[in-house]
Amino acid sequence: MSSTSDLQAFGERHVTKGLGRITPGVMTKGQGSYVEFQDGRKMLDFTCGIGVTNLGHSHPKVSKAAAEQCMNIVHAQCSIAFHEPYLRLIEKLLPVMPHPSLDSFFFWNSGSEAVEAALKMARIITGRQNIISMQGAYHGRTMGAMGVTKSKTIYSEGVAPLMPGVFSIPFPFWHQQAAPPETPTSVLTTQSLYQLHLLLSQQTSPSDTAAIIVEPVIGEGGYVPAPKEFLQGLREVCDKHGILLIMDEVQSGFGRTGTWFAIEESGVRPDILVMAKGLANGFPLSGVVSRKELTDKLKPGSMGGTYAGNAVACAAAVAVADAIKEEKILDNVNERSNELFSSLLSLQSDSALAPYILDIRGRGLMVAVEFASSENPGAIYDPTAVAITTKIPKGIASRVAKKCIEKGMLLLTTSVYEVVRFIPPLNISKEDMAKGCKVFEESVREVLK
Ligand code: PMP
Repeated sequence: MSSTSDLQAFGERHVTKGLGRITPGVMTKGQGSYVEFQDGRKMLDFTCGIGVTNLGHSHPKVSKAAAEQCMNIVHAQCSIAFHEPYLRLIEKLLPVMPHPSLDSFFFWNSGSEAVEAALKMARIITGRQNIISMQGAYHGRTMGAMGVTKSKTIYSEGVAPLMPGVFSIPFPFWHQQAAPPETPTSVLTTQSLYQLHLLLSQQTSPSDTAAIIVEPVIGEGGYVPAPKEFLQGLREVCDKHGILLIMDEVQSGFGRTGTWFAIEESGVRPDILVMAKGLANGFPLSGVVSRKELTDKLKPGSMGGTYAGNAVACAAAVAVADAIKEEKILDNVNERSNELFSSLLSLQSDSALAPYILDIRGRGLMVAVEFASSENPGAIYDPTAVAITTKIPKGIASRVAKKCIEKGMLLLTTSVYEVVRFIPPLNISKEDMAKGCKVFEESVREVLK
């Protein structure tokens, strides 16, 4: 079993069908913004392994820190005793927290586990049962995290019953409110907050409601930044009723949107913040941070996990935090983001393509293009769009992503809508960004010609 076709066939036979894949082949190497395959392909990676390798693959300082830690201690179990990388990591994270009250941490392996822990914490701390999440939200695949996930039925199909006590309101996104795409965010925000008001009067009393969980930029639900007024509105409701606000920054954190955390832009203080993905640039590590006054209500032993807060992963994360600062990563995000947006907007300004490019949105390097679909409310409501609905080809987003892959660039779709998402490394060079934009433009033109 050495040739690519042998390995591919072995994988098809022995790896569960439950895992999907966007391209055949076997990855052998990742360096910076590129991934290499056994068959010789070298692909520009605009997926970052689903928003993880923010500093590019195999970042030398991160790999070095992990390798050195491997020679000291690999598994310093966090329920046996503290270990140094765990504490050093907290020291690095404290100054970049979006609010100084966030000062009490613990680490896990995956985003789902951290969400799970945040939900449990909220119940324990408030002594209340119910959780409110957003329609379109993604929080993970474990039973609790999936219970608050509302982005695609594929994750929960055949698995129910999920965690009980979960309610939801529409995220302020035009799809979730069946509104035309041009609906002002102020209108969407008012609608969502009104739905929250109704929910708390009709279905779950505030005195039974432990937490509201929200992504500041909804990820698997379509790459939509939450309007700042919406996040501020949630904070007000939480303050009024003693409900905890959980911010899921698993995908949007660590510079992805141009600030350390996406919530910074709104000035809103989360009670609990969940992080993962970019935290350790590929080493399995997630974290939950809250304030000491709240976490002091947890009994020792109520949280923990065999591999939680692994020493190698924590050492890697310390190097990530240093690199974000030393390499001025946030500046690069903002510069490359402007280039990406201007390239996408100029594509949309082409009158031949404009009817098919419904929306360009996102923040920093968490950016999406939504294509037209005959199912979009835009096409239903807009009389000029109706004329073209009959001409709209099916599945534009997945065909564009596939075309990009054929041309040497990894690109993902997201959500149940026609959306492709751009999650390139945060330190991507100007040249590679230009290259990615060119591949995308050619792919769109070929698919829509
Ligand atoms: N929350 C958000 C916002 C996510 O994007 C994800 C992963 N896509 C998760 C939670 C779950 O993280 P993991 O896959 O590491 O369990």
